[in-house]
Amino acid sequence: MPAAPVAFENTYSRLPPRFFARLAPTPVAAPRLLRLNAALAADLGLDEGWLRSPDGVAMLAGNRLPDGADPLAMAYAGHQFGHWVPQLGDGRAILLGEVRARDGKLRDIQLKGSGPTPFSRNGDGRAAIGPVLREYIVSDAMAALGIPTTRSLAAVATGETVYRERALPGAVLTRVARSHVRVGTFQYFAARGDTAALRELADHVIGRLGGDEAAAENPYRALLDATVARTAALVARWQLVGFIHGVMNTDNMGIAGETIDYGPCAFMDTYHPGTVFSSIDSGGRYAYGNQPRIAHWNMAQFAQSLLPLLGADENSAVAAAQAAIDAFPSHFEAEFLAGMRLKLGLATAEDGDGELARDLLERMAAGRADFTLTFRHLCSAFGADTDGPVRALFADPASFDEWATAWRARLAREGSVDGERQARMRRANPAFVPRNHRVEAALAAAEAGDDAPFEELLAVLARPFDDRPGVAHLAAPPKPDEVVHATFCGT
Ligand code: AMP
Ligand code: MG
Repeated sequence: MPAAPVAFENTYSRLPPRFFARLAPTPVAAPRLLRLNAALAADLGLDEGWLRSPDGVAMLAGNRLPDGADPLAMAYAGHQFGHWVPQLGDGRAILLGEVRARDGKLRDIQLKGSGPTPFSRNGDGRAAIGPVLREYIVSDAMAALGIPTTRSLAAVATGETVYRERALPGAVLTRVARSHVRVGTFQYFAARGDTAALRELADHVIGRLGGDEAAAENPYRALLDATVARTAALVARWQLVGFIHGVMNTDNMGIAGETIDYGPCAFMDTYHPGTVFSSIDSGGRYAYGNQPRIAHWNMAQFAQSLLPLLGADENSAVAAAQAAIDAFPSHFEAEFLAGMRLKLGLATAEDGDGELARDLLERMAAGRADFTLTFRHLCSAFGADTDGPVRALFADPASFDEWATAWRARLAREGSVDGERQARMRRANPAFVPRNHRVEAALAAAEAGDDAPFEELLAVLARPFDDRPGVAHLAAPPKPDEVVHATFCGT
């Protein structure tokens, strides 16, 4: 192997041993590169040619690691569906190390599906090709939409079979993150009363994320404030595109403000706040409309774990935590409202804008309108002659007309010019999102050996704001017989 093809830095592996289990990935039988994200490789300063070489693929499969890797599985805990689980951890993931990206900041390079670890409990440590490609394409689509997310560098077929409800081909995903530290990582140490570890973890995160927290009077309070703001902004961005994470457990909520742990996630077609896809979310805890309050709750768990670092005494720590948590709704509302103004083509701010947006959403829910298409068609709705496509999405088109009257009055008050408004709105309202039925069809084809639908979808999702008349079928909602009602974790 050539000298150091990947310049790993290993800041996490220098933390105390109780933070992780040090172990290498388990080699796989017959690695075959399925997908490599060349643009991301370039951003990371990695050599695409090497990554595609047998040595590169061997690394991406976990079969052979370059010098300088210090592989480990991270320990964490978490609330799963509200229930406390004191010991989770990477049960099927291995952090190979960190690399310095072109922006000067470190990124974690992690293999997912890389074999059992001491945290696997009864799991096999493996992943099936379907969920791996699902994470690959949905995370790539999120990045193209401008939403903070972990990235997917590569997918490798293992040549092995994994057994879920049925036998499936196995795969390994290479995941890239600003940090894999989760709310649950802090909870893990807080639950053990290990304040020294909490402090080291917080210092590590502050160093890794590179904000100005270290200079603050209380860096841990600054970390909490920044995390609350990042998380509120992230979930607002999800709401603005109709993304449903599906498993917002505290172990699946990162500290870096990136979307992480794509499992049974999906984009909504028909708008309804109660929409749930995940097969394991029978109570609807993580329904679309609940995501902001769940993120808020998760931030409360984060604040609680930080208590020992937040003040000189318990009262001042609790007061600091409460003040930080209480800022969540205003952060969320500000981001959501700013995003809604962009979606509605409003260039100025007026007091009633939030109500105007909420009124539209209520009418969309009542009228069973498609979320993505409503906003996209709204871009080119200029009045009676051109409202047809958007109003036709509503079961009761007259309900849209009523709303549009108020919207146009609002646009007129700011002297909005249709052509300019349209151009702005088309940059805020994607034509293409990874619609669940298209993702499922592409994955089924890929599993059967036909990559063409996956390739086509991936290429279209890379430019979600462009109109592509040739692939209108990828913008369309599912026909009744195409609707996917449940998505599976694939674990
Ligand atoms: P998730 O719901 O995917 O976030 O996973 C919850 C926990 O289960 C994490 O600790 C995972 O590492 C672990 N886990 C999920 N799938 C597997 C698997 N196939 N083998 C071992 N551990 C797993
Ligand atoms: Mg997880």
